[in-house]
Amino acid sequence: MKRLDEQVAIVTGASRGIGRAVAKELADYGAAVVVNYFQSQEPAEALVTEITGGGGKAIAVRANVGEPDDAKALAQRALDEFGRIDILVNNAGVNRDRSLRRMSTEEWQEVINTDLNSAFYCTSAVLPNMVERKYGRIINMSSIIGQMGNIGQANYAAAKAGLIALSKSAAQELARYNITVNAMCPGFIETDMVIALSDEVKEALISRIPLGRFGRPDEVAAFIRFLVTEGDWITGQQLNPNGGMYM
Ligand code: NAP
Repeated sequence: MKRLDEQVAIVTGASRGIGRAVAKELADYGAAVVVNYFQSQEPAEALVTEITGGGGKAIAVRANVGEPDDAKALAQRALDEFGRIDILVNNAGVNRDRSLRRMSTEEWQEVINTDLNSAFYCTSAVLPNMVERKYGRIINMSSIIGQMGNIGQANYAAAKAGLIALSKSAAQELARYNITVNAMCPGFIETDMVIALSDEVKEALISRIPLGRFGRPDEVAAFIRFLVTEGDWITGQQLNPNGGMYM
């Protein structure tokens, strides 16, 4: 397996859950990692301490990636600190679940902004450096919900489907610069987002997963590490770590 020594990765929403596991995995493979967080400063700094304590390179950077200026500042901080950007994982996301009939405009806009617009803002911010160096690996964290839809998640499903379409268009535009763009579409993964569900809902979900369990953040992280170490000829794809729930 190739290593990521000398490479620099930005992982948005890396203070918790899947993003945290991705940041740790990329750091374990030698990348210098920018651990982006928004509210969870302590967990983000604890992750940086863990990485640097093990001999790796990492910094924590606060940015609301739903704000274009914050996204630009995040990329600039990565460049100031490490001099280049090779990998961008657009992972930050929220959900504000509500039936369409009850969903407020704010709930719609917050999810579209945090889950979809942020990927455009961060991608735009890192592209000049990637294009100039003719190298980039961009992974957009979509979801099985962007492929299947779900009751009570119209905002989230629309944002995640938008990330798939963004990935395909970006893949076509950017291939000439050796920049690949893929959409990761996990099924249900054991993080705060899923732990918050009731036992009843969890049991009903597991009954629909052929492999009979939720996934783990480290399983998604390993898939992303594979993409950035071995995936030179993979672009514009939807990648489906989902236990077989959607085929
Ligand atoms: P999580 O545990 O709730 O963590 C969400 C992360 O996003 C946190 O680090 C949070 O940072 C960050 N974040 C939220 N708003 C942000 C903003 N405006 N700017 C910067 N960071 C922000 O979620 P997760 O389950 O790990 O999910 C991570 C991604 O995978 C999301 O995009 C989610 O939609 C997707 N996904 C999750 C599942 C699943 O089953 N868990 C399945 C498919 C896809 P702070 O805490 O610092 O604010």
